[in-house]
Amino acid sequence: MTPLAEILRAQIACTGPLTLADYMTACLLHPEHGYYITRDPLGVSGDFTTAPEISQMFGELIGLCLAQSWRDQGAPSPFCLAELGPGRGTLMADILRATRAVPGFRDAARLHLVEASPALRAEQASSLSGHSPQWHDTLETLPSAPLFLVANEFFDALPIRQFQRDPKGWRERVVGLHGDALALGLVDPVPHAALDHRLQDTSPGQIVETCAPARAVSGEIAARIARNGGMALIVDYGDWRSRGDTFQALRNHAPVDPFDAPGTADLTAHVDFEQLSLAARPVGQSGLTAQGVFLERLGITARAQALARNLSGAALEQHIAAHRRLTHPAEMGSLFKAFALFSTGAPTPPGLDP
Ligand code: SAH
Repeated sequence: MTPLAEILRAQIACTGPLTLADYMTACLLHPEHGYYITRDPLGVSGDFTTAPEISQMFGELIGLCLAQSWRDQGAPSPFCLAELGPGRGTLMADILRATRAVPGFRDAARLHLVEASPALRAEQASSLSGHSPQWHDTLETLPSAPLFLVANEFFDALPIRQFQRDPKGWRERVVGLHGDALALGLVDPVPHAALDHRLQDTSPGQIVETCAPARAVSGEIAARIARNGGMALIVDYGDWRSRGDTFQALRNHAPVDPFDAPGTADLTAHVDFEQLSLAARPVGQSGLTAQGVFLERLGITARAQALARNLSGAALEQHIAAHRRLTHPAEMGSLFKAFALFSTGAPTPPGLDP
């Protein structure tokens, strides 16, 4: 049993079952044993891979998208260039390299990173050395300035709660004990006014998910953009409305039981973009755009061809596979979506549906 399993078992025995959100928070961010606190989970030797780790093209195109949006809003200087959950810093390094040639962008940018993991902060310090990033535990301490923000695979790591519909209301799925083992259970049904809108598209027995922190973060981003201008580009897996149980655990690139060995696997859930949108009113919002379509519109094929000219053999094959992986509907192209919040009246950022 992992040390975190012991702690959670003792806690449940003492004070009763945990919500899934409490469980996820402990597994990912427990100050001593949390998954993100103790390791760098990314890459081939880790548990999962992300778009910026697959190819530099992803960050380059996102950099140009951010820079175009910055120019569309009058090239404010200085501005806050922020990233939520920057991982190894790869995406931001690619953004900064690709925007070198955009007049004024880099000089005006003040780099701010919101990151919970000390291990990943150290990696970001090394990949972004020379750009003087400032780190934050939450968005609240970002400076008050025009905000151009990116978040790739950040929202899927925020803790969700699950509710199973019942003829008498909603039964929350909670983490309790079955003998010595952690196991899912259901509490008695109660009505939840916040889930009334899901009565139309669910039937008894079906599960819906909520993510209060995602709503809070989206609301905070929108409030800052409404005050100071800017744009936030959110890329993640999920859909306009999350359906069913999407809670999952990954270890060594394979799905595992999320209740086995807590603190040693990545836990995520699909992002419910409708909730981000509702929490973000009243700033400009893009339509939800499939990642493959978004990257094609930004010119990934031309960029891939240009890079391919200098490659051969295994490197070329890997490059072609990376292009396919990022864009093909059977890979990341349609499960992943891009969504933007931006200053009211500004044009929709490039690549995104209006
Ligand atoms: N964006 C990166 C990494 C994605 S993994 C990439 O695309 O490669 C999720 C990232 O979010 C990690 O950096 C993780 O440490 C961070 N993170 C997760 N939950 C967080 C929280 N509540 N607050 C701040 N950072 C968090």
